[in-house]
Amino acid sequence: MKYISTRGGMEPAPYSAILLEGLATDGGLVVPETVPQVSAEQIEAWRSLDYADLATEILSLYATDIPRDDLARMCRAAYSADNFVDEAIVPVSPLAGPDTGISLVGLSEGPTLAFKDMAMQFLGQALEYALEKNDRALNIIGATSGDTGSAAEYALRGKHGIAVFMLSPQGRMSEFQRAQMYSLTDDNIHNIAVAGVFDDCQNLVKALSGDLEFKRAHELGTVNSINLGRISAQMVYYFWAWLRTTDAVAEAERAAFEVSFTVPSGNFGNILSGHLAKAMGLPIRRLVLAANENNVLDEFFRTGVYTPRTAAETHATSSPSMDISKASNLERFVFDLLGRDPERLAAAWRELDETGSIDFSADLPRFEAEFGFQSGTSTHADRVATIRSVFEGSGVLIDPHTADGVKVAREYAEPGVPMLVLETAKPAKFPDIVLEATGERVGMPEHLAGLLELPQHVTEMDDDEAELRDFIATRAVHR
Ligand SMILES: *Cc1c(COP(=O)(O)O)cnc(C)c1O
Repeated sequence: MKYISTRGGMEPAPYSAILLEGLATDGGLVVPETVPQVSAEQIEAWRSLDYADLATEILSLYATDIPRDDLARMCRAAYSADNFVDEAIVPVSPLAGPDTGISLVGLSEGPTLAFKDMAMQFLGQALEYALEKNDRALNIIGATSGDTGSAAEYALRGKHGIAVFMLSPQGRMSEFQRAQMYSLTDDNIHNIAVAGVFDDCQNLVKALSGDLEFKRAHELGTVNSINLGRISAQMVYYFWAWLRTTDAVAEAERAAFEVSFTVPSGNFGNILSGHLAKAMGLPIRRLVLAANENNVLDEFFRTGVYTPRTAAETHATSSPSMDISKASNLERFVFDLLGRDPERLAAAWRELDETGSIDFSADLPRFEAEFGFQSGTSTHADRVATIRSVFEGSGVLIDPHTADGVKVAREYAEPGVPMLVLETAKPAKFPDIVLEATGERVGMPEHLAGLLELPQHVTEMDDDEAELRDFIATRAVHR
């Protein structure tokens, strides 16, 4: 299997090479040359596998340049009881009462209590492996306001040939987020608290990544949500959730048994993995995109018109990991929509650059008929009401992102079709809104008791590019 660019200007490259890059060399996004197809019999043969072995099967269709034994070892290391609290890795839990027919797919059993661990834990293994093979090192530089940074640090801590330089705005993260990141003691993890806001951190990262000479000299890179390693690892739980749901279906009816998914979405990474799983042959009926007040994607799926917004037009909401103004991964869906034609894609993106908007409304009926997409929006009041009603109806506490999902899932659930909502974070990360909705105080999970008391390691720095350069230059790892 080789990988190509949506814009058509990149030599086909193998999986372990594209893992180490962000954008394709021509500015497009990397996609598989062809989407591997799996038959109903093949999926059925995976039913008895545990999560790590299922991951090996699915990822071996994409990482064809990695020997299967190596891949199996990486999947076992990533999806182990050391990293995930629930022994199933991804528990699938039905809701009750008025929400009968809706289940939660638990993607937040990992070290940072959110779904990014699902992909990052595998990527940490795969990056270490690919760097070793290519005799390279990688110094990850990133800016975080909380969640992405911690998932990267927990996945890359202690890995050979990798260091992480994570910038965060001083005094602007929650006590929990600070404790989670700053309590790490690994030599290759560097937390830098910048005197400024998140945008200042991001501008520093952009300045250094944009300096190609500095970037090459210190082997800088990123692991953001467009990384295809992440997208491929996320496909696994769509198959897993389908298998666990159809465990209860009569054998004769399983093969074509359809389920629907609702996905709390931001950068369109998570749901894109569902789109690929469906394209591979998994019987998915609907992929329902749930947005919060930053509903640029809901607008796209309802009207066919995509109009990215500016940072200034982006609201700070109570489901902050979905606060986006444009969706980096959408280009991969549009590539499929345009018949995987790089010239049409490039022309569309030129129009977007020139006019700030692009109109696919002529293709709108295909969004649902061919690809199964539906979408909806949820507000703060919806989140509060949903957290409350799920607690009352099912006795389950959910986080605000999952609540956006449940709110929209209820609008699209169909009789006889299981609706699976991806649970993207644990409520313990967002105790205030849970308290507002239910009067319940969610405590820290048992295995994290004591986290807040651990000593913290962080370097405080002015919003000063020269100081940051020095810091990285003296601490970057090399082969
Ligand atoms: C990142 C994140 C999302 C959004 O996922 P995308 O892949 O960007 O669409 C939703 N919920 C939580 C808790 C997240 O951390």
